[in-house]
Amino acid sequence: MNAQTASSLEFALIARHFTRPSQRVDVVQGIGDDCALLRVPSGMELAITIDTLVGGVHFLLDSDPYGIGWKTLAVSLSDLAAMGAEPAWATLALTLPDVNEPWLQAFSSGLFELADQYNVALVGGNTSRGPLSIALQAHGFTPPGQAIRRAGAEPGDLIYVTGTLGDAAVGLDVRLGRLDVPIPPEEAAYLCARLERPEPRVAAGLALRGIASSAIDLSDGLVADLGHILKASQVGAVINLDSIPRSTVLRGLSVPWEKIVGGGDDYELCFTVPPDRQALISPTINKTPIGVIQSEPGIRWCDAKGHAVRIEATGFRHF
Ligand code: ADP
Ligand code: MG
Repeated sequence: MNAQTASSLEFALIARHFTRPSQRVDVVQGIGDDCALLRVPSGMELAITIDTLVGGVHFLLDSDPYGIGWKTLAVSLSDLAAMGAEPAWATLALTLPDVNEPWLQAFSSGLFELADQYNVALVGGNTSRGPLSIALQAHGFTPPGQAIRRAGAEPGDLIYVTGTLGDAAVGLDVRLGRLDVPIPPEEAAYLCARLERPEPRVAAGLALRGIASSAIDLSDGLVADLGHILKASQVGAVINLDSIPRSTVLRGLSVPWEKIVGGGDDYELCFTVPPDRQALISPTINKTPIGVIQSEPGIRWCDAKGHAVRIEATGFRHF
């Protein structure tokens, strides 16, 4: 502990905004001691993921703090979903430039609204002063050997995505005022909500255990993230662009393919299923087949008629 990381003000802040009675019996010790003490259900594997959101890089500094809180947890639950893991706990490292009570109130409300939806307990964290940066680690469970990995796709497997792609990338254009056509306010609100309040596909991830041969969540865009599956599985793919699911709002705009498959922030799942397991996919999953795994490396894009289409997109690059 030092003057930079701890003060009575900060303890009060943690108590006020982040400490709540635990809803989970597997939390032996939550916020308030040097470590959290947690009970992993016997025989289960622990899936752990961490993401950092940096102000001005991963979200606009003037974004609604409720949405920042929501998205902070959503992006990690999306990683758990992509592994077929059941969410359980989270820890939060917050670096704040100052103590802004209304901001913290809204941030924690957004975070806890999503946490409550998935019965996730916030069990610890760290608070320090500095440029706004938020790191959240999430923990979940998978039955032994049943986590869905990136490596596992085989030639002939069908490739699916959940939901619709491209909305968040256009939502960012709306937020930055760089959409070159006027759109009705309700459409703008829809696109911004897709950017700022992504719905992690937790139920889909759980339902794909034992069925999907590989999965990933789409954070950096289909080009980059499907690319990770292909590399890990040492295969390639053909994707029918015309079959990529797009929302009604997106279809009303002329959005280039590069933005839809390269824009990122979709937080949908991309997964592959072998031909003999197609019938096992739960009808409750909102999914669309978009292509097929092939043995030749790389992605080949085509239209509905099977004609090759050139795509110049690389996905979001962090460095
Ligand atoms: P230590 O100095 O032992 O690391 P801290 O003083 O940093 O402990 O934190 C006190 C307690 O509050 C710990 O249980 C810690 O996990 C929790 N905590 C600190 N910051 C946060 C936060 N932003 N969100 C949730 N829990 C937090
Ligand atoms: Mg300590």
